[in-house]
Amino acid sequence: MQVFKFGGASVSTLDRIYKVADILKSYSGQKLLVVVSAIGKTTNALESVVTAFYRGDKEEALRQFEAVKNQHLQLAADLGLEAGFLNDFFTEVEWLLHDKPVKHFDYYYDQVVCVGELLSTTIISRFLASQQIKNSWVDVRDILRTDNNFRDARINWAVTEQKVAQQVMPLFENAEIVLTQGFIGATDENESTTLGREGSDYTAAVFANILAARAQTIWKDVPGVMNADPKQYSAATLIKELNYKEVIEMAYYGAQVIHPKTIKPLQNKGIPLLVKSFLQPDAEGTVIHDKAVAQLPPIIVYKQAQALVHLSSKDFSFVGEGLTAKVYTVFEDLHFKPNLTQNAAISLQCVVDDIAEKVEGFALALSDDFDVQVTKGLTLLTIRHYTESLLQELCADCHVLLQQKTPETVQVLLRK
Ligand code: ASP
Ligand code: MG
Repeated sequence: MQVFKFGGASVSTLDRIYKVADILKSYSGQKLLVVVSAIGKTTNALESVVTAFYRGDKEEALRQFEAVKNQHLQLAADLGLEAGFLNDFFTEVEWLLHDKPVKHFDYYYDQVVCVGELLSTTIISRFLASQQIKNSWVDVRDILRTDNNFRDARINWAVTEQKVAQQVMPLFENAEIVLTQGFIGATDENESTTLGREGSDYTAAVFANILAARAQTIWKDVPGVMNADPKQYSAATLIKELNYKEVIEMAYYGAQVIHPKTIKPLQNKGIPLLVKSFLQPDAEGTVIHDKAVAQLPPIIVYKQAQALVHLSSKDFSFVGEGLTAKVYTVFEDLHFKPNLTQNAAISLQCVVDDIAEKVEGFALALSDDFDVQVTKGLTLLTIRHYTESLLQELCADCHVLLQQKTPETVQVLLRK
């Protein structure tokens, strides 16, 4: 048994969908649990639909949803499918959009956004069947049980394990491929939930864990895990081998390689994660496992849209345990976290994601105890396994506001 995850980019055009079918054909004879994301940028489009709905602009929400609908109908038609099978999904969303919002935003977000994966997997499943690639389509909301923390739902593992055993395992008796959605789940009350953006990698890992898969493969439009984003650093190179810990660190510092929650379920069962290109399925890609890896290249991660919050004590008192505790309590209350902190005698600096309402809430909550200064528009650069010369090269022409170094990692807050 293996688990495959195909991201939105791998099903964004007809050519790419044909490639996915070819890849699956080449694994014929093996049991595969396949997770497919929403097509292309559908999730962004649906986010925009729900935003319009929530601000009361029903017409705009329906108009935007119509575009999503047409795009999927067109794709189904281009793949030679009768598209009537999508109607129930469309109707469900349209009904909701005709209502007035009375619950909180995150609830509606999940009810609307989940349709992206339902549409894509239904289309792909039907298309594969039309190509004689037998598969069973599963609505993952019947399997993956979560709490009701909408938009960032946590998985109920006990229930999910039971459902996999009862409802997913038997499907492999009839078809080698079970095809389902990532990123979405459902509560005890059958309300749809989502696991956080890019959460399909995580769903795939949950299945890999529960099914004790031999391996999980994430199929992407890049050759594997690179040591930097090629759009930000043109000399980026492929890393052929990594261990779980390195990948968790990379994700933590903001590398958009793999969803950060993906590694734990795999590590817990020692399941290797392969990252491969669906454009070159025979190339090796990257393998991530628990072996020590010697000689990693420098790994470069840029986190954009950072804010520096400078807190200095009002009356010149030291920022001791009392004031420090207050700062962290505010972080906890706001579900907000520092990406970097730096202490000094009468001040504390925190680098955070510049999410306007969180930064304001943070500054306001601490304004009785501190003089608060916020600087926005910054970038946090992290280099693991750095060299001094690379650090200098990447900081040239930048204004450096803060720097922290360990023997392994350097972090620099800069304005470009
Ligand atoms: N479609 C979702 C997103 O774009 C989940 C995923 O692709 O992993 O965030
Ligand atoms: Mg994606």
